[in-house]
Amino acid sequence: MKKCTRCGTVKSELEYYKDKRTSTGLYSECKKCHDTRLRSPLNWLKESPTPEIAARLNIYAIQNRLKTQVSYSNRLLLFTLEELTSFYKKNWETFMKLHGVWKSHGYEYRHRPSLDRINNDGNYSLDNIQIIPIHENIRKDHVGKKFSTIHKLRMSESSSNKKIDRQRQEQLPDLLKEHSPYKIAKMWGVAPAAVHYWIKKSHSSQP
Ligand SMILES: [Zn+2]
Repeated sequence: MKKCTRCGTVKSELEYYKDKRTSTGLYSECKKCHDTRLRSPLNWLKESPTPEIAARLNIYAIQNRLKTQVSYSNRLLLFTLEELTSFYKKNWETFMKLHGVWKSHGYEYRHRPSLDRINNDGNYSLDNIQIIPIHENIRKDHVGKKFSTIHKLRMSESSSNKKIDRQRQEQLPDLLKEHSPYKIAKMWGVAPAAVHYWIKKSHSSQP
């Protein structure tokens, strides 16, 4: 019989996977706990982070973003999982420092270490990425988009910008006194670019 280090239950040895690296020849956590963690890479990242897991989560998120978000449609993913894993190995100290902050905040989303593109208009390439907390990433993205000429061009072209109806357009100035454009976009369920578009438009139409 053996006690699982994760759930604390005492279980038969058959309930543990084999692991040649340990003195007992078994994993310290039971099969059930191990499987649960395997199903959720984010839990892995929280509890026993490795460069591989961090990289895998990023690649998955990036691929998903490129596929589903219009504003990312002409971004390119220019590194492989292996290359990103090496990047994390090189920057592991930075990652673990941020991981410590994330953990100390009860794994709050905004403190999660995230992969940021240094130049927001650039691609996902090894020379254009850094690891920063999500809250910094969001703020940076927000500021970056405001001043990005490419983004402005895309804003004026994108049909998704017309999703804000007249009533909302009229509410916008008041809402902006209390909320960030990003927050407003979230409340309305529209792209942040749409809100920025109308902010810009209201500024330019003022006498
Ligand atoms: Zn267990």
